[in-house]
Amino acid sequence: MKTQATEFDLITRYFKRPVPKEMLGAGDDCALFSVPSGRQVATSTDLLLEGRHFFSDVDPYTLGHKALAVNLSDLAAMGATPIACLLGLGLPSIDNNWIEKFADGFYALAKEHACPLIGGDTTRSMHGITLSVTVFGSVDPLRTMRRDAAQPGDEIWISGSLGAADIACRMLAGEIQLQPDLLKRIRPALELPTPRVDLGVRLAAYAHAAIDVSDGLLQDLGHILTASGCGAEVFESQLPLHSALNALPGPLLRQAALAGGDLYELCFTAPASAHNVIQSMGHDLNIALTPIGKTTIEPGLRVFDCAGSLVNKLPAGFDHFRT
Ligand code: ADP
Ligand code: MG
Repeated sequence: MKTQATEFDLITRYFKRPVPKEMLGAGDDCALFSVPSGRQVATSTDLLLEGRHFFSDVDPYTLGHKALAVNLSDLAAMGATPIACLLGLGLPSIDNNWIEKFADGFYALAKEHACPLIGGDTTRSMHGITLSVTVFGSVDPLRTMRRDAAQPGDEIWISGSLGAADIACRMLAGEIQLQPDLLKRIRPALELPTPRVDLGVRLAAYAHAAIDVSDGLLQDLGHILTASGCGAEVFESQLPLHSALNALPGPLLRQAALAGGDLYELCFTAPASAHNVIQSMGHDLNIALTPIGKTTIEPGLRVFDCAGSLVNKLPAGFDHFRT
């Protein structure tokens, strides 16, 4: 086929960097890697579509970073240590400059987290760019932070800060108009999220349940509550809002903090007895870790505003199929 030479050339040129010698990387029918004995494989895949998950004019370096970051974030939420990843790529045409930058962003994060790219698939797409990344990690089977493992009376924590990615996304989409200076400060939260891999691995020894927040804090915390069969109380006064957002109107802030997606911070529950060790973990890793509420025997998710009153109308998180 006419396009084949280009396809293999493209793979060789951009996606065949060396892998650790104990693995078999791109070039054969399958890649090979092993898992330390006594550990389980954690694996996850995420699809990113042009126009749906990223803007067409996004900087390709940041897109390469983010495509892997959102997957590493899933490993983090399970307390898994990255092993390797695969990359599926559908491109409408070949723009060498674009692909080189994309690959650089992808490989930079892969190197940072010792998660080598060991294979994938590359094809021409009929319309727009499609990215699919699959990650593999390893976990201690007794220390996975499963969504169904929260217990009533746990403290609920969130890493990092809230709201910036959502506001940046809505400014870039033209939904809200705010100062360009603000966008400059919060854009990295949307385009260069930091997967909390080291945090996840360390938390696994103490936390009960964890989830990475991709669709909004309340919605994702809700998944833990449903799976664990408990409820929760969350206090707005304790929410760690991004410092650049202080001057924004209250309703906009509430929406961004409680329902804003694309966060890739870890929301986790842990027994109160682990409070101090979790706090010092945050200091060690230089990541803000904030308790925002408690899980309860009584079902349902209740949010209290800064005056201590129950918030009646909660914003909804992101759902791809909501009409
Ligand atoms: P197959 O025909 O078996 O699907 P391919 O011709 O698609 O194999 O791919 C050849 C090799 O290149 C495989 O080892 C595959 O894993 C690797 N590969 C293809 N696309 C990518 C990519 N985007 N990133 C990394 N490796 C890739
Ligand atoms: Mg193939």
